[in-house]
Amino acid sequence: MTSFDFHIHSGLSACAEKTMSPRQILLQASKAGLDLISITDHNSSANVKTAMDLASEIGITVVPGIEVSSVEEVHIIALFEEYGSLAEFQKIIDENMPEAENPTDIFGYQLVYDCNDEIIDTDDKLRQIGTNLGVDMILSEVRRLGGYSIPAHVYRYKFSLISQLGFIAPGSDFDALEIGSSQWKKEKFKIGMKIEGYPVITGSDAHFIEDVGRTSLNLESSEKIKSPGEILRLIARLQPG
Ligand SMILES: [Zn+2]
Ligand SMILES: [Zn+2]
Repeated sequence: MTSFDFHIHSGLSACAEKTMSPRQILLQASKAGLDLISITDHNSSANVKTAMDLASEIGITVVPGIEVSSVEEVHIIALFEEYGSLAEFQKIIDENMPEAENPTDIFGYQLVYDCNDEIIDTDDKLRQIGTNLGVDMILSEVRRLGGYSIPAHVYRYKFSLISQLGFIAPGSDFDALEIGSSQWKKEKFKIGMKIEGYPVITGSDAHFIEDVGRTSLNLESSEKIKSPGEILRLIARLQPG
């Protein structure tokens, strides 16, 4: 069995708790029995490399990922097989971030950590806003880089496909749809179910360390799966049961 959560924030997201360093996230995820996680900060991935460097020591797989905001303010989780592809995608995001400084008194700091929980940098750019990239552009760039796009918390009252666009378009290049974890539990979603033809998953969207591991999905597998693509392909083939 492989237990995974593709949606976790670190202290690099202004809205997340500052104890959420890569090491503390991985330790908590390991304690909770997760095999594979992604650290998905808002329009930023500066803590991912550190998390990947810690992965083998802590015994967890870290999938390179990010939560990108489109120009329509739709949040999309982008996952990659290789760190280099995420780094390429980050360059595209940085070229398309509106020039604005993070008002720390309103949003909080955006922190970069080393492997030992030391804060080594602060990101002063405002990241909690939409980029200049449309949803379609994000989907095509992620695909071009060999990655996967999963619109986040699709029914949430803000920053979702439904709140920003009003619909989930069939035939789009989404690899899955993420249902917010409380809705997932309340409405008894299961992997194998589909909406508009897209497989559904959930993620913790953890902003506090104790929320890491509270939400996870389990996929039957004889060996631990380490590739996000493999997980998404398996889920797409499942029947609800
Ligand atoms: Zn979000
Ligand atoms: Zn999030």
